[in-house]
Amino acid sequence: MLLDLNEDETLLKGGLEQFANGSLRAKIKPFADRHEFPTDLVKEFLALGFMGTAYDSEYGGGGLGTRGAAIVAETLARTEPGFAAIYLCNSAPMTVIARYGSDEIKKKWLEPLCRGDFIASFGVTEPSGGSDVASIKMRAVEDGDSFVLTGSKVFSTNAGTPLHGISTFVAVTDPELGAKGLSTFVVPVGTPGFKVGKAGRKIGWRIADSVELYLDECRVPKANIIGNRGDGLKQILTTLSIGRILVGATGLGLARKAIDLAKSYGASRKVGGVPIFQNQGLTFPLADALTKIHASELMIRNAACLADSDRPFRLETSMAKLFATETASEVADIALQVHGGYGAFEEFDVSSLPGEARVLRILEGTSEIQRLVIGRELSA
Ligand SMILES: Cc1cc2nc3c(=O)[nH]c(=O)nc-3n(C[C@H](O)[C@H](O)[C@H](O)COP(=O)(O)OP(=O)(O)OC[C@H]3O[C@@H](n4cnc5c(N)ncnc54)[C@H](O)[C@@H]3O)c2cc1C
Repeated sequence: MLLDLNEDETLLKGGLEQFANGSLRAKIKPFADRHEFPTDLVKEFLALGFMGTAYDSEYGGGGLGTRGAAIVAETLARTEPGFAAIYLCNSAPMTVIARYGSDEIKKKWLEPLCRGDFIASFGVTEPSGGSDVASIKMRAVEDGDSFVLTGSKVFSTNAGTPLHGISTFVAVTDPELGAKGLSTFVVPVGTPGFKVGKAGRKIGWRIADSVELYLDECRVPKANIIGNRGDGLKQILTTLSIGRILVGATGLGLARKAIDLAKSYGASRKVGGVPIFQNQGLTFPLADALTKIHASELMIRNAACLADSDRPFRLETSMAKLFATETASEVADIALQVHGGYGAFEEFDVSSLPGEARVLRILEGTSEIQRLVIGRELSA
């Protein structure tokens, strides 16, 4: 398989790097230090049209699929992993709408999301546990021309921000059918009964706020159901699988940022008159890191190619997410170690990377859940 970027992808990467190495790099640190959502920077990013990268041009997208989306996540994360979070959490609801929504729903919600009129959030995880998505409790009861949704979600990223326009929620429509009784709905912000909780301070994704959401008899038209009633589980599993590629790509960008920082610090630091990179004890872990980063890139790109084809991709996606995010954590730790005591101080960018990498091993399915998916191959 040819893994080089094609012409469109090269152009995409160039455009993204202009934003990431320009405005984003210049302005993001104070927001990250304050754990604050950078509203104006996100607006600037939305105006550039990158939110639609993966989706069909018919709905205003760039038509570059999951391969393109992975480039966006990686490039943003190389400057600020939390900014990639805003992108990838917006992508999950866009993906479920794009893959399963009717033409009407796509025109109503995907088009403005591709244009960047507002951002979206994905409501899957509930307080009772996110690893078992089939145990969702939020209820959606049919009533005339509407569904009435009641329940709560946790950690919904993007949902507490001033730019938030819609959430997609997975809820139980047919309890007697168990896991086959789940369906997905679009709920616009401002629908009576839609309440947003507070954002907590996190060790990673500091600029992206992740909040509790409460739906208290929230009424939406039947037309807001995405795809078929009862297809919710299938939709979440596919959407999460694609999200895993983007989380892996965020890990890849983060690991590259860690290497960038280690290289620039290590190039000028001398101890006892000797440049620290002359010590093999320090460079061997970095050599291993570079090798694993290369492997992460190949795995992510391969998983993205599969997701854009008609072939199965869940196994490769879980492997790519597991490997790239565990690698990101490892490389962040090594890069911090290269900085010695300075790595412990917040004014050094490297100090934030272990926390930023750590959350990637939890969301969109923890490392244990990826190992469960991969381990199923043993009994296949
Ligand atoms: C920063 C951040 C942002 C997030 N954003 C979103 C979002 O936008 N939308 C959304 O819906 N969710 C979001 N999440 C939620 C995330 O997907 C869940 O945290 C994750 O799926 C784990 O669920 P949980 O936290 O309930 O842990 P639990 O499911 O309670 O798991 C606890 C521990 O038990 C382990 N475990 C559970 N079952 C098994 C098993 N069968 N075998 C082995 N180990 C197991 C897990 O790996 C974990 O270590 C976000 C989370 C974070 C941290």
